[in-house]
Parts: sequence; structure tokens; C-alpha cells
Amino acid sequence: MEAVDFAREALVADGERPGAHLGATAEGPYAAAHYFAAEVPGYRGWQWCVVVAGTPESSEVTISETVLLPGDGALLAPQWVPWNRRVEAGDLGPGDLLAAPADDPRLVPAQIDTLDVDPVDRDQVGQVAAEIGLGRSRLLSFDGRADAAQRWYDGDHGPSSTMARQAKHACGTCGFYLPIAGALHGAFGVCANEYAVDGRVVSVEFGCGAHSDVREATGAGSPAYDAYDDGAVEVVPHPEPTPADASSAD
Ligand code: SF4
Repeated sequence: MEAVDFAREALVADGERPGAHLGATAEGPYAAAHYFAAEVPGYRGWQWCVVVAGTPESSEVTISETVLLPGDGALLAPQWVPWNRRVEAGDLGPGDLLAAPADDPRLVPAQIDTLDVDPVDRDQVGQVAAEIGLGRSRLLSFDGRADAAQRWYDGDHGPSSTMARQAKHACGTCGFYLPIAGALHGAFGVCANEYAVDGRVVSVEFGCGAHSDVREATGAGSPAYDAYDDGAVEVVPHPEPTPADASSAD
């Protein structure tokens, strides 16, 4: 515990510039850790720790290790987050690879074993499988499908979007709506109107002003609003404010 100078010299010999001695702790009957203020660029609040050790029956001490450790309030790097938890939608660029993990809950295996049939039959099975959407090594799982459906339903092309709330007609009745195949057939489709959200997945309850049933404006008012009959409105003149009103308003 008294080998403060000895510990300091170990740091100086390493080319470091230790600051004030901050304290020492016993690490066992024959070892002590000495702490020194560190003046290392980029390591605000860190401390040098020098562990000195002795042996029974001897007054000689040696250096076990020197290490830079974070002290109270030290500037630390943010906690490490694996890359696959940092990737966000829209990060994938041309040429990038992003493999779905082997245990990705969004996918399930969809192997078709055709090895026990005649090669001609195997080709036919493969052709039919491709036509009905099989023949891929992995398919969307129930969870993967449910996640996608929820995302689309809650997204910009779902029924609660601003566009949908102001539309008079829903996609489900629109001639530009192409329902998708599979389990989500009844809930989602693709918009095929180049003036609307062309090529995007839309909820059957989404809608926009380019719906195929929207009629051209006739010149008799906006098709978006009911006619406004100003002859049925009683006009009440508003009294001019008096100087007293103006001063009380101030
Ligand atoms: S044009 Fe509008 S209403 Fe029709 S499918 Fe596209 S988004 Fe839906």
C-alpha cells in the first residue's frame, strides 16, 4: 500500500504522465491497486491503475499490471449494439447483402422433396410448385405475415392515414386496386394508378381522391364538398368596437 512512488515510476517508464495519486485498495494479502489521475486525450475521467504485488517473507514488490480504467463520470463509448440490431428499413443500398438469419421468425422452411419421382415428373412438380407459389426454400411464416400486415395497416397506406380519412371511396371498390394473392388477399392489394400511390401495397380500407368512381367536376361546385347555399344564411352585422373596448383590450 505504501509503494506509491514505485507504482508511479512504472507509468512514467511506460511514457505516461500520471497525475495525482487518487488512492489505493488492497487486492489481497500481497497485492494493492494504486490509482492515479490520467491526462490522456480523449479519456476524460479515466484513471491509471497500477497493481503492485509482493511475496510472503519478502519486502520486494513488483508490478503486476498497469491499466487505464474509467472513474466516476468518465466519458465512455456507447454500449455496443450488434449490426443486425442497428439496421433499419431503408438502409439497404444497391449491391448490399442482408442475409435473413437461419432462425428468422419471419420465415419457415418450404422444402419440396421430389427426389423419389421420375425426372420428368419432378420437372412437372417443380413447374406446378412455382406456379402456386411454392418451390422456394423458405416462405413467410405466420408471424412474418402478421407483422407485415400490421405494418401496412398502420402505415401511410392504411385506413388511419390522413389521405384515407379524407377520401370518400376506399381502395376495395376502386378499379385501380389489384388484390394480392394468398392469405392477405382480403385485406391488401396494390394500387395501379400512376397518379395515386402506383405500385404500393394499400389496405382495402385505404382510399384517395383518384378512386375510379370519382366523377369529373361539372362546374357546379367542388365534388369534394356539398354545395353551400348562402341564401339560407342569416347575415348578422358585427358591431364596430368602441374606443373603450379597444383600451380594455390593451
Ligand atoms: S387510386 Fe386511390 S383508391 Fe384507387 S387503388 Fe389507388 S390508392 Fe386506392
